[in-house]
Order: sequence, then structure tokens, then C-alpha cells
Amino acid sequence: MRIIMLGPPGAGKGTQAVRLAQRLGVPHVSTGDILRRNVADRTKLGELAQSYMKAGKLVPDDLVIEMTAARLRERDAQKGFILDGFPRTIPQATALEGLTRIDAVVSLFLDPEDLVKRSTGRRICPNCAAVYHVHTNPPKKEGRCDKCGSGLVQRPDDKEDVIRGRIRTYEEQTSPLIGYYKEKGLLRDVYASGLIEEIHQRILEALGA
Ligand code: AMP
Repeated sequence: MRIIMLGPPGAGKGTQAVRLAQRLGVPHVSTGDILRRNVADRTKLGELAQSYMKAGKLVPDDLVIEMTAARLRERDAQKGFILDGFPRTIPQATALEGLTRIDAVVSLFLDPEDLVKRSTGRRICPNCAAVYHVHTNPPKKEGRCDKCGSGLVQRPDDKEDVIRGRIRTYEEQTSPLIGYYKEKGLLRDVYASGLIEEIHQRILEALGA
């Protein structure tokens, strides 16, 4: 299946996308993860993207579209994928149409104050990109990744003021995609409050999977 995960920052897109990808046996394609990897590796793309990411702004469409197109051309993505964090603008969505067909768009929604709480508690592994939460999904050993043992960090763009800016960016530039995909009959709304497993089940139901 070719699925897009849509939702504001803090709705749990990444966590649910990883679970869904495992369940369906398709790759999890996170544009945020690819960009962060480029920043860490100090590539040209990373250098160009860094200042936007730090400020909680969107990286320009042309850069992200080219990067995502290259990832979707890879062999493992031919059998399907879970797209997490792309598209984030209407021009990205129209570019995506020229690249591949989409089967469904899962739209996660949550109360705005819950979004802030979720994001400020998030911790990630800088080595393997695993995601934790200090309250709802803590690692077994405090501050250490369960999978690879690396020290967990807070994303610089998960500080409260940056998060509020990212939520605004989402409302202005990304939320129009809800209407865009609804019109195409692809939208599946899923309430994203509750336990990770409960939300996963809601997503499977919404997809009829
Ligand atoms: P995420 O991990 O999806 O929250 O993405 C982290 C940051 O990477 C975002 O706040 C943006 O600065 C950038 N980013 C990720 N995906 C995109 C995209 N599709 N378009 C523009 N910027 C993106």
C-alpha cells in the first residue's frame, strides 16, 4: 500500500508510521529523518535545510521534492511505502502525483494543547532515529535508546516556542491538504489521542487493513 501520514507536529505521525510500515512490510519514508541525516552528515542539502529546520519553517519545496522523488525511486519503495512528513504543501502534493499513485491518506488529529505536550516530551535517538516520550513511551533505561544504546536527545525544534511556530506553519501551509485529499476520496480521519497501540488499531480499521 502507498500511504501518506498527515497531521500536525506532535500528533504521533512518526511513531504510527513506523508501526504501520512494520505491519504492512513496506518502508517508512520520513522526510524529516532524511533531512536530519543530511544535516548530521553535513551534506550540501543538509547545509541548505538546516536554518529552516531550526526555525521550525518548511524547507523549500524544490529541495524536498527532489529528495523524496529520489527516495521513492529506490527498489524497496516499489512495493509500497508509508510517507511521513511529505507532502506538506499543495505544490508538494501535486509533484507527488506525478511520481506515484497514492492509496490512502491517514489524517491524525488532536487537541492543540496536547500537541505541545507531546512534542516537548519527545526524545529521539540521534543514531537510529527511534522515537520515545518521557511520559507515554519512555525507554527501558532512562535517556538511552532501547535499540542501539545511544544517548537520547531532544530535537532542537521540539522546544516549546519553536513547536508553537511549527503548529502555525502546519495550519497555514499543510492543513489545506486535508481538503485536497478529501476531495479525491483518499482521506481517512483518525483521532490520535490514547495509547500508541489503540491509535494503531484505529488506523488499521480506517484503512480496512
Ligand atoms: P518532521 O520530522 O517531519 O517533523 O520534520 C522536521 C523538519 O524538517 C520540519 O519542521 C521541516 O523544517 C523539515 N521538513 C520535513 N519534511 C518536510 C517537507 N515535506 N517540506 C518541507 N520541510 C520539511
